[in-house]
Amino acid sequence: MTKKTHAFQAEVKQILHLVTHSLYSNKEIFLRELVSNASDACDKLRFEALDDNALLEDAPELSVQVFFDTEAKTLTIRDNGIGMSAEEAASHLGTIAKSGTREFVAKLEGEQKKDANLIGQFGVGFYSGFIVADRITVETRRAGLPVDQAVRWSSEGSGEYELETITRTQRGTDVILHLRDEEAEFLSTWKLKSIISKYSDHISLPILMKKEEWDAEASKQVVKDEWETVNKAAALWARSKSDITDAEYQEFYKQISYDQDAPLAYTHNRVEGRSEYTQLLYVPAKAPMDMWNRDKRGGVKLYVKRVFIMDDAEALMPVYLRFVKGVIDSADLPLNVSRELLQESRDVKAIREGSTKRVLGMLESLANSDSADDKAKYLKFWGEFGAVLKEGIGEDFANRERLAKLFRFASTQADEGVSLADYVARMKEGQEAIYVIAADSLAAAKSSPQLEIFRKKGLEVLLLVDRVDEWMLSHLYEFEGKPLQSVAKGAVDLGSLQDEDEKKQAEVAAEAFKPTLDRLKAALGSRAKDVRVTTRLVDSPACLVVDEGDMSGHLARMLKQAGQSAPKSQPILEVNPEHALVKKLAAQADDSARFDNLANILFDQATLAEGGQLEDPAAYVARVTQLLSAN
Ligand code: ADP
Ligand code: MG
Repeated sequence: MTKKTHAFQAEVKQILHLVTHSLYSNKEIFLRELVSNASDACDKLRFEALDDNALLEDAPELSVQVFFDTEAKTLTIRDNGIGMSAEEAASHLGTIAKSGTREFVAKLEGEQKKDANLIGQFGVGFYSGFIVADRITVETRRAGLPVDQAVRWSSEGSGEYELETITRTQRGTDVILHLRDEEAEFLSTWKLKSIISKYSDHISLPILMKKEEWDAEASKQVVKDEWETVNKAAALWARSKSDITDAEYQEFYKQISYDQDAPLAYTHNRVEGRSEYTQLLYVPAKAPMDMWNRDKRGGVKLYVKRVFIMDDAEALMPVYLRFVKGVIDSADLPLNVSRELLQESRDVKAIREGSTKRVLGMLESLANSDSADDKAKYLKFWGEFGAVLKEGIGEDFANRERLAKLFRFASTQADEGVSLADYVARMKEGQEAIYVIAADSLAAAKSSPQLEIFRKKGLEVLLLVDRVDEWMLSHLYEFEGKPLQSVAKGAVDLGSLQDEDEKKQAEVAAEAFKPTLDRLKAALGSRAKDVRVTTRLVDSPACLVVDEGDMSGHLARMLKQAGQSAPKSQPILEVNPEHALVKKLAAQADDSARFDNLANILFDQATLAEGGQLEDPAAYVARVTQLLSAN
C-alpha cells in the first residue's frame, strides 16, 4: 500500500479539537494515556499468546520504552505488545468506537471543570498526544504478521491522517510525538521520570528509559546507552499493604475508575484458603450517570496471576454491588478463562462471596463507626448508592440481614439516616410492627392523611420514597422479628396501642354511620371497592387505602410511568366520621344530587391527597364549581 490520505470520522475531529484546547492545563496526562495504551497492548499480546505462543516471536519479555531526541524534538513511546494491522490502525486511530462520545463532548464543552480523567473514560486517550505534539507518527506491526506488513500512520491532528505500508522488524508499536516548539520541557529524563512515577508506577510492566549520568568533565548530564526501569513495575495490589501509601491507593483508584473524586473507602486483602486471591476494592464517592442500568457491567477487573484477563468481570460481584471498582487477582483460575466459564466456576463463586462480605464489611465499618466523619461518609454513600444496595435484599438471600442493617430511611422523625435498628429502639411500648408508607416524594409522604393517627399517637413511620422501595417491601417483610406494615394497606390495626374505649367508640360510630356508608357506596359505584369508617384520620375527611394483597396507588403510578400496564386498582374509601365535611354529607338526607356530588368530591380529593391523578378532572372541577356557586 502506498501512502494514502484518509479523513478522520467527524466525531474524531471534534474530539481532537476539544482535547487539545480544553485539556491543555493538564497536558502531562498524554504520557499516562500513551503508556497505558502500550501496557494494554502488552496485556493483549500476553493474552493472545496463551493460545498461540508463536506470537511472542523471539521477544517474550514485554516492556515499554520511553525515549527522546533533543535535536529532532521527538518523544517516542515504544512497546512490543500486540501492534496493529493497517485496518486496525485505521479503525482504532481514525474512528471512535465507544458510544457516549456526544456526552463526552458535552461535558468538555460544559461549564464544569475540564477534567482530564474524562478522556480515559471515553476511550479517546490516544488523541491526547496532540496536546503536546503537532504531528504524531505511529509505526506498528501486529504480532504474527510478516515484517513487510507493518504500517505507518501519521497525522497533524486536524482533519486527516496518512497510512502507508512499511517494513518493520520489531513487533509492536512506536508512537512518535513531534513536540511543539513550546513543549521542549518533555525532552528531559527527569521530567518524564517524574510523570511516570506519578501515574504509572503500578503498571506491572517495566517502563524503561535510558540511564542518565553526570559527566564531570563535560559538567552536564549525559544519556547512556543503557536502559533502566523507571517505574516500580509491580502491580499495586500485589505489593504488601504496609508498603503502599494512601496516596498510591488513591492514584490507583483514579487510574482504574477515571473518577476525579477520591474513593469513599477501599479494602485490600490477600485471601488464602480454598480459593486464593487478592482483592483491592473501592467504593466510589459518586454514582456514575449510568448507575441505573442493571445491564451495566461491573467495575472489577480480573487478573490471573498478575495477567490481565478482562475488564468488568461481572461474575465477580453481585449486580447490586455494581458500583464497586477494583481488581481481583486469582491464583487458581486458568488463564484462558472465558466469561461463560466464570459464571460457572466454583472458585469464582467463592471469590464473589468473599468480595461481597468485604464490601459489606467496609460499609458497616463506616456506618457503625464512632467517628462523625465516617458516619457522614456513610450517609453520603447511602444518598448515592442506597437505592442500588436495596436491590440486594431480593438478590442476596445469605446477606439480607446485614443488608437490612445498612439501610437508611427518612421517617416522620428525621428526614434521613434512620436505620431499622434506630426505629426498633424507638418503638413505643405495645407497638408490634414497623410502620411504613410508600409515596412519590418526601413531601407527599409527609402530608399523607394516613399518617394522622400515627402522628397523634406519637408513632414513628418510615417514609419510603425511592422507586425501588415498593419492590423492596415485597422482600423485606420483617426486621428482628418485627413485621414491616404499610399504613396505607388494609385496615388500621394498632393492636394494643388503641385502648378499649377507642375501639368501642369506633364500632359505635360505624354502626350509626351505616346508612351513610351505604349511600356512599351507591353513589361511587365501581369507583370504590368498599367504603368504611376509619380511626386513622384526624384532620382529613377521607383517604384511600388498598386491601392487603392489592397494588397500592403509588406502585400503580410507578408502573404507569415506566410504561407498564398496571391492573386497574379499586381502592377502599375510608371516611372520618368526626370530620365536618363528612358530617355534612350524612346530613344530606333528601338532596340526592347534592349527596352524589359531595361523595364524588370526597373520593377525588382523597385521590389527589395521595398524589394520584383524577380520571376525569373536568367532572371534578364542574362538581366543585357547582358546589361553590350554590349557597
Ligand atoms: P482506549 O485505550 O480507551 O481504547 P485510546 O484512544 O487510548 O482508547 O486508544 C484507541 C485504540 O487504539 C486502543 O483501543 C487500541 O486498540 C489502539 N491502540 C492505541 N495505542 C496502541 C498501542 N500502543 N498498541 C496497540 N494498539 C493501540
Ligand atoms: Mg487508552
